[in-house]
Amino acid sequence: MALSLKDLGLVDQAFDTSGSYIMALDCGTTSVRALIIDSYGCVVAQASRALKTVYPQSGWVEQDPIEILASQIAVMMEVQFKSGIHSDSIAALGITNQRETTVVWDRDSGQPIYNAIGWQCRRTAPLAQQLIDEGYEKLVRSKTGLTPDAYFSATKIAWILDNVSGARELAESGQLLFGTIDTWLIFNLTGGRVFATDYTNASRTMLFNIHTLDWDNDLLKLLNIPRRMLPEVRWSSGEFGCVSSDIMTHRPRITGVAGDQQASLFGHCCFEPGQAKNTYGTGCFLLMNTGDTVVESQNGLLATIGIAESGKVSYALEGSIFHAGSVIQWLRDKLQIIGSAEETAAVAQTHPNNGGCYMVPAFSGLGAPWWDAEARGLISGLTGASDRATLVRAACESMAYQSYDVLRAMETDVGTKLDSLSVDGGASRNDFIMQFQADLLQIPVKQTESVETTALGAAYLAGLAVGYWEDHEELRQNHDIAKWFMPSMSDKERQRNLDGWHDAVARARSSRS
Ligand code: ADP
Repeated sequence: MALSLKDLGLVDQAFDTSGSYIMALDCGTTSVRALIIDSYGCVVAQASRALKTVYPQSGWVEQDPIEILASQIAVMMEVQFKSGIHSDSIAALGITNQRETTVVWDRDSGQPIYNAIGWQCRRTAPLAQQLIDEGYEKLVRSKTGLTPDAYFSATKIAWILDNVSGARELAESGQLLFGTIDTWLIFNLTGGRVFATDYTNASRTMLFNIHTLDWDNDLLKLLNIPRRMLPEVRWSSGEFGCVSSDIMTHRPRITGVAGDQQASLFGHCCFEPGQAKNTYGTGCFLLMNTGDTVVESQNGLLATIGIAESGKVSYALEGSIFHAGSVIQWLRDKLQIIGSAEETAAVAQTHPNNGGCYMVPAFSGLGAPWWDAEARGLISGLTGASDRATLVRAACESMAYQSYDVLRAMETDVGTKLDSLSVDGGASRNDFIMQFQADLLQIPVKQTESVETTALGAAYLAGLAVGYWEDHEELRQNHDIAKWFMPSMSDKERQRNLDGWHDAVARARSSRS
């Protein structure tokens, strides 16, 4: 039998592009999932597994990289068996992931030298503060778009090199590799052949220069991190190698990679400057596409790489809200005045308006645009007539007010007005909150039919790279089925609500600010 091109080592494998589905891997913080998506952007099948998180000390957050990988591979297998759609029908594979979380492993053995340090981990807060105290904030901001913080990968890598025995020598000799979760998965799924990340994930490390699109030597020097441990940075829609045959027999190509918030932006088809999305989960994550402009925020928002596709980078402004859906959990678990999050929309509408009651969920301070770490939560405007529904309504409204404040700050930074807002996340299914959001912002709010916008974004990036979808226009058509919330509140009522909210925020703020 004649030798194949593969036998001759001329190609990595004979590609099979006849497949009719895309597989998206969504490697989150609390769970990993594998989804099979068809050409209409519909989820045909999915499998998921919960992930464990460990808290070795107060403020420390870690996960086991092997557990993440093994769980991800397990759900890839499971979804194929469940659906009967196997790797010969998978045209390409996309990955989206929790961002910033840091893994360092040995190049040869593939073994991590320490647990993955989670994005929420605060152990390196003193190092981040030291950078600020030594006057590096402006430098970091101008190069990376980020403010020095323990949240990003850079100080986490430095911590591992400084605290794991022998790590620094190994890193300097080129033996250690660093990756965010996408890189860790790609490396292992390709049998160690590909050591790469994408621009969106790189832009969250605080080591990546978002202007030159390269790792930044000044920052690497500042944090004493050897460049040789960093992955190659590639376009989010493009080649990341083939999955090895012991994981998927027909070895589909990985052709889409993006951090979760950026994948969601793409999944919402926010391809144009000025378009924005808000994810209403435990917290809220807002991203606005700013096109080819890196916007220097005057309101403490972050500049980041939003979309990196077709040889073009679109930047984004990002703002996050610490407590959004978590307020609903608080009503359920601590106050015990609701049985489930789903019932809040109906309960909130028991009263025709908020009756002057506001809840500011500053449980751990206030984020953008206030940046007041010492602020604490409050409920204002209680009267004898206030009841359970009053509190539920105030909690629901608080998500919309907080998002309003961040979006207004974004508009101020960018100098243009939003024309609509795309939404996803668990709490975006609450029609009361979405209507209230449209009323506050005075723009339509678009709730897409699919809740899987993040996975969809990864699938879109992967599918575009292999011609599964032709272009953006085809993707937009998948988005035609949507529910729109149109603003309908009177100006007077809207202003009264906003005034009441801002008065409550002023009371919640610490006297020092
Ligand atoms: P995450 O990805 O952050 O875990 P999800 O997108 O799964 O979050 O959303 C879950 C959060 O949304 C929870 O905090 C929950 O309280 C809130 N939530 C879910 N459904 C609703 C709803 N119908 N109304 C209000 N809040 C909701």
